[in-house]
Amino acid sequence: MSEDTKPLPSPHFGEPYLLTPGPLTTSYEVKQAMLRDWGSWDDDFRAMTREMRSRLLALIGSNSSAYDCIPIQGSGSYCVEAMLGTFVPKDGKVLVLSNGAYGLRAAQTMEYLGRAFTLIDKGDYLPPRGDEVAKALADDPAITHVLCIHCETSSGILNPVEEIAEATHAAGRKLLIDSMSAFGAVELDAGELDYVAMVSSANKCIEGVPGFGFVIAKTDELTAAKGNCHSLSLDVHAQWATMEKTGQWRFTPPTHVVAAFIEALKTHEVEGGVEGRGARYTRNRDVMVAGMRELGFETLLADRWLSPIIVTFFCPSDPKFDFSQFYDLMKDRGFIIYPGKLTVVDSFRVGCIGRMDEYVMRRVVEAARQALNDLGVSSAAPPAAALEERKKLAA
Ligand SMILES: *Cc1c(COP(=O)(O)O)cnc(C)c1O
Repeated sequence: MSEDTKPLPSPHFGEPYLLTPGPLTTSYEVKQAMLRDWGSWDDDFRAMTREMRSRLLALIGSNSSAYDCIPIQGSGSYCVEAMLGTFVPKDGKVLVLSNGAYGLRAAQTMEYLGRAFTLIDKGDYLPPRGDEVAKALADDPAITHVLCIHCETSSGILNPVEEIAEATHAAGRKLLIDSMSAFGAVELDAGELDYVAMVSSANKCIEGVPGFGFVIAKTDELTAAKGNCHSLSLDVHAQWATMEKTGQWRFTPPTHVVAAFIEALKTHEVEGGVEGRGARYTRNRDVMVAGMRELGFETLLADRWLSPIIVTFFCPSDPKFDFSQFYDLMKDRGFIIYPGKLTVVDSFRVGCIGRMDEYVMRRVVEAARQALNDLGVSSAAPPAAALEERKKLAA
C-alpha cells in the first residue's frame, strides 16, 4: 500500500458511515473545531468569515475576481430561494430545467416567489440538453434566466452544464446554477460557464456540517440586484452589503458551523482542491459501482452520466428483497444508505461523498453481499421493467 493510498482514519465514534448526500460523514477535526464558542461581533469571527469567503472564491477557477461569495444562514434550499429572489428581476422569467426533485423544488420556489417561470420537465432523470434549451429560449423571448441543476442528487446524474451554458449565452440569457451537491468536487469554472450566480452548502462536497449555504455571484449583478429581493432574510445583496461594510453577518451566524467549515476547507486544500476531492469521490464511486455490479446490481444511469456524488441502483427483482430490511442490515454493518426517488421502479442510492475512501467502499460492497445473503436473495438483478426504463437514456 503506497503512502498516498493509505486508508483515511475512521472519523467517528462508532456511529455508521453516512452514504448520503449530506449531512455526510465528517472528519474528527471538523467535529473538534466546534468545541469552542465565538462571539459573532468579535474580530476573531469576522476574520473567520473573511477567510471562508476568500477560500470559497478561490475554488471557482478563472475569472474569480469578478465574483464574490456570500454565505446565507439555513439549509441549501434557503440559498436557492435567496439566489432566485435576489437575481431574477420582478418582471423577469426563469426557464427551470428539471430532471428530478431539486429541479421541481426550484420551480416550486418560483411559484412561492410569484415570479414568472417555465419548466422543461424531463421526469426522473433524463438530462436537459443544449438543443432543447436553445429551442425553449428561441420560442419564448420573455425568458431572462435559465436555472440548471448541476448534479441532480435525486438520481445522481451529472447534468450537461457546459452545453446548457452555451445555449443560454448564445441566446443572450443569463445562467443560474444549483451546484449544491457537486461544488468542491466537480469543476465549475466561472470564466468558462459565465454564470450570474451559483449556490452550494456547507454539508456537501466540502464536508462540513449543516447550517448554512453560500451564493457565489458576479459583483456587478450583486450591485444591480439591490432592492430586488422579496425577503429580508434571504436578500443576498443586503447580506453582501453588510458583510462588505462591517465584516458581519446580518443576523445570528452559525458560528460553530463556520468554524467547522473552515477546518473542512483546509482539508479540502490539502487534498488537492476540487481536483483532489473529485478524484477521491470518483475512486469511491468506481470501486463501489464495480463491486455492486459484481453482485448483480444495475445502475439506473449509463457510465457517462454517473456523477462521483451519488449512484442510483435498481432494487433486485427477487421477491425476497425488501428495501427496509436491506437498509437495516446495512445499518447493522455500519452503513446508512438512502432510499431511491424514481417514480417508475424501485431503487435505492449510495452516496460517494464524505470522509471516506475506497477501503470503506469495499466494505460497503461486502456489507451489501452479506445483507443479500441474510435476505436469501441469490441474484441482485433488477426486473425487466427497470432495464426497459433505462433504455430511454441510451437514445
Ligand atoms: C442538497 C441539495 C439541495 C438543498 O437541499 P437542503 O435539504 O435544503 O439542504 C438543493 N439542490 C441540490 C441539487 C441538492 O443536492
